[in-house]
Amino acid sequence: MRVHAYAAPAAGRPLAPTTIERRDVGPNDVLIKIEYAGICHSDIHTVNGDWGAQPFPVVPGHEIVGTVAATGADVTRHTTGDRVGVGCMVGSCGECANCRNGDEQYCVEGMIPTYAGTDRDGTTTQGGYSTHVVVDADYVLAVPDGLDPAAAAPLLCAGITTYSPLRRRGAGPDRRVAVVGLGGLGHMAVKLAHAMGAEVTVLSQSLKKREDGLRLGADHYHATADPDTFKRLRNRFDLIINTVSAPIDVDAHLRLLAVDGALVNVGAPAKRLDLNVFSLLNGRRSYAGSMIGGIAETQEMLDFCAEHNIGADIELISADYINQAYERVLASDVRYRFVIDVATLG
Ligand code: NAP
Ligand code: ZN
Repeated sequence: MRVHAYAAPAAGRPLAPTTIERRDVGPNDVLIKIEYAGICHSDIHTVNGDWGAQPFPVVPGHEIVGTVAATGADVTRHTTGDRVGVGCMVGSCGECANCRNGDEQYCVEGMIPTYAGTDRDGTTTQGGYSTHVVVDADYVLAVPDGLDPAAAAPLLCAGITTYSPLRRRGAGPDRRVAVVGLGGLGHMAVKLAHAMGAEVTVLSQSLKKREDGLRLGADHYHATADPDTFKRLRNRFDLIINTVSAPIDVDAHLRLLAVDGALVNVGAPAKRLDLNVFSLLNGRRSYAGSMIGGIAETQEMLDFCAEHNIGADIELISADYINQAYERVLASDVRYRFVIDVATLG
């Protein structure tokens, strides 16, 4: 079927309305009528060529919420009318050790990204800035009833990307967690770490968003532009989640970790990050990374958010505002996720 979409025609070029083809619904497929699509900084990195060549035209969008419009004959998990979500991944081999372990995002054959990836049939995947999408049912999440669907869209990437390292590294009572960067991922990290019971500190470039940070659940808020911050907070944190989309001073942040503390990088800047190994040796510290989460883990995160009444703080926009939204994200002027009202896209 032919559907409306917004696509970037080439690297660094503004997105424009277009139409794209969606495949027929196969036996294990779900046709989703998209209601909301979040704008992730990864969409911008991709479109701007930060991560290398892309198969343009690219329809970004991997924070998708909508309703099931049709299902293939073999689909049992989802039925027409269900509210569902799709994140950053629409396929993986399903057979390798990582897939069997629930880490489909680390599939040894390579997971199939929701956009700008190569699908099983050889076509290029196209993402959520469109009215409909056809997805393998195994990669479709159930969005719990209690969640506002527009505020739930960003959970599919920003939510799971921060939930996974927080959970796996024991964020909870008596643990001091710092979140670097208060954007889309950062504000979710604050909400989630707070709900898990941790003591949460925001490290933002300035104090401009301090009130917001405290309202979102942070206990403390400091500006990284103030050199004093790095002196005062030395050896303080058990876990630091770095969500910054640009390079940071890794050593300065590592020195904020207590013994055995870990700095988990989820930000994915275009440029390399480097560090002095003594920042790790001194304090048995770890420097780690993490990419989204597995399918079961993503469902667990959605259920956790429903239980704790957590959604993203969003600015709902119409499709013709996408390019301006990109500019504002690049200027760190996002509070705290732009979500496209896909009804404006047709
Ligand atoms: P975002 O909304 O733009 O948030 C990034 C925040 O980083 C900004 O709001 C800003 O916070 C801070 N920042 C930006 N430029 C900075 C600079 N030059 N120096 C210091 N701080 C700066 O982006 P996002 O959507 O949350 O994504 C963040 C990063 O994570 C991107 O690189 C994205 O590609 C990546 N990502 C990774 C995964 C994964 O699986 N690992 C998943 C999704 C996204 P303050 O104003 O508070 O300083
Ligand atoms: Zn994303």
